Amino acid sequence: MSPPSFEFDFNSAPGGGFRGRSFFSTGLFINNEFVDAVDGNRIGIVNPTSGKTIGIVAAATEKDVDIAVRAAREAFEQRWGMKAPPTERRRLLNRLADLVAENADELSALEALENGKALIAAKMMDVEGTIGILRYFAGWADKIQGKTIEVNDSKLAYTRHEPIGVVGQIIPWNLPLGMFTVKIAPALATGNTVVIKPSEWTPLTAIRMCELIKEAGFPKGVINVVTGYGDTAGAAIASHMDIDKVAFTGSSLVGRHVMKAAAASNLKRVTLELGGKSPNIIFQDADLDRAVSWAAFGALANQGQLCIAGSRVFVHEDIYDKFLAAFTEKMKSVRIGDPFLPDTFQGPQVTETHFNRIMNYIEIGKREGATVHLGGERYGAEGLYIQPTIFTDVKADMTIMKEEIFGPVVVIAKFSSDEEAVRMANDTVYGLAAGLFTCDVSRAISVANQLKAGTVWINCYGASSLNAPFGGYKQSGIGRELGEYALEHYTAVKAVHINMSASPPI
Ligand code: NAP
Ligand code: MG
Repeated sequence: MSPPSFEFDFNSAPGGGFRGRSFFSTGLFINNEFVDAVDGNRIGIVNPTSGKTIGIVAAATEKDVDIAVRAAREAFEQRWGMKAPPTERRRLLNRLADLVAENADELSALEALENGKALIAAKMMDVEGTIGILRYFAGWADKIQGKTIEVNDSKLAYTRHEPIGVVGQIIPWNLPLGMFTVKIAPALATGNTVVIKPSEWTPLTAIRMCELIKEAGFPKGVINVVTGYGDTAGAAIASHMDIDKVAFTGSSLVGRHVMKAAAASNLKRVTLELGGKSPNIIFQDADLDRAVSWAAFGALANQGQLCIAGSRVFVHEDIYDKFLAAFTEKMKSVRIGDPFLPDTFQGPQVTETHFNRIMNYIEIGKREGATVHLGGERYGAEGLYIQPTIFTDVKADMTIMKEEIFGPVVVIAKFSSDEEAVRMANDTVYGLAAGLFTCDVSRAISVANQLKAGTVWINCYGASSLNAPFGGYKQSGIGRELGEYALEHYTAVKAVHINMSASPPI
């Protein structure tokens, strides 16, 4: 069978984004060709704004993953890895960044279409992020180097930072293009080849990227994209005997499966970027306007569907009432609607399944005795929109205080001392991120040091940088992405010892 294809006419989309038709193959991308899945399986793609099925993509099984891994292995040995000069890897990553920039409007439109996020967010977070990440890691490609180690007069040792080999990557749906790039860019810059599985809900931008990857001139087999379901294609990656490392972003629940499968198969290396329930602490000496704006942004950005969402807000008792009043107004002022309209901040949740999961958490919050201070209902008569929601009177052991909701829902609680704030903030199995607002520099640094989180923002929230590492403490993950720190997870260090004059001890 020939592979499926996708066609969409953006000419009638509201707002002022991309104008034109998107048309591309939605087969699996293996060896620089779009091919059908061996078993001919398909996944339907739904536009969360309209609820309509807008296309189909191929669904890989274990057999397809196996073919992709063979392609990646051959590419690693023949055309990439230590075979492609680092300057060539740099050139290709930069060329891909150029092509993404040239196609930014279409990619943003596709991202908003399949995910439901505001067009402006798709453009800023995913597409601009992609260009930045590609260029950042392109810059590293020819700067990967080992060390010379002086052992003694008769011996010299040096290290090589070699690519690991074939890397399997599994990503979620909340930042489809951003996650795709944050995974492939460091892997490719360091000379690995890739087999990557996008989310079943949002595979379109990754597939469109494959056309650009081919156009950029990457050798065949270097990047292979296997769209499919987690429990088939994803599981096949995690347990494959010829994949040397698996990099996973998603829930802590599935992260455990991936780590188990890696251990049970070939003990492949594992890095995990998992969930969060991040605290945002507002001290009594905070700049209130600033704290209110960032706290709302931290809770609602990307429809609340961010691993770093500042979903637990802790406020000092002296300013609690004032903060809550201003925060409520800010949350109310957010524009909700069609992602393609220019002033939309919050679009629909990604799918009906996920919408129901969030609404269920809201019901649990009510049932367990928390107070709905704002929202708590579907927004509008139809569509997957949820009102920005604030819960007060939330106790430490309530489900909505403990579990990741991944929607526009925030819980608020009071504290009365710095010690109590730190204790409440750290009272979670997660440790992805944290925010704090204060004008006292000593308090800021002292509290930042005590927070058990991979990222701490002081006087802002969610403002990450491509050259700073990102990753989790505790059950939020293992390893770091972005920044120089990402490189160590994509290289294997080899020590080479050179004897000049020593004799063996026997
Ligand atoms: P998920 O359900 O864990 O899925 C993530 C990916 O894993 C998807 O591609 C999924 O396939 C796949 N998968 C499912 N079961 C699998 C299995 N048994 N073996 C291998 N792969 C499997 O997460 P999600 O709902 O897509 O994303 C939301 C979660 O991601 C949240 O917890 C969020 O915090 C986390 N996240 C973390 C970060 C970070 O950097 N720390 C960033 C973004 C998101 P399907 O396509 O079939 O679902
Ligand atoms: Mg899932």
